[in-house]
Amino acid sequence: MKCAICKNGETAAGHVTIVLERDETTLVFKHVPAQICDNCGEEYISSEVNMALLRRAREEMNKGVVLEMLNYAA
Ligand SMILES: [Zn+2]
Repeated sequence: MKCAICKNGETAAGHVTIVLERDETTLVFKHVPAQICDNCGEEYISSEVNMALLRRAREEMNKGVVLEMLNYAA
């Protein structure tokens, strides 16, 4: 798709690293599937992936994790 930010680039499928922070907790998700603009580098994450990330994040926070590196598996 065309990038909504720079309106010049085209997005391509790739993987990104997402950092979620809440209170004391920092979660780093590696290899998250995303669409990435080839011009400005803007990252687009689908709502399904976003929801899965938030669900995982809630589970980790319930465990009392402070800093965690996670591998996103679709
Ligand atoms: Zn762009």
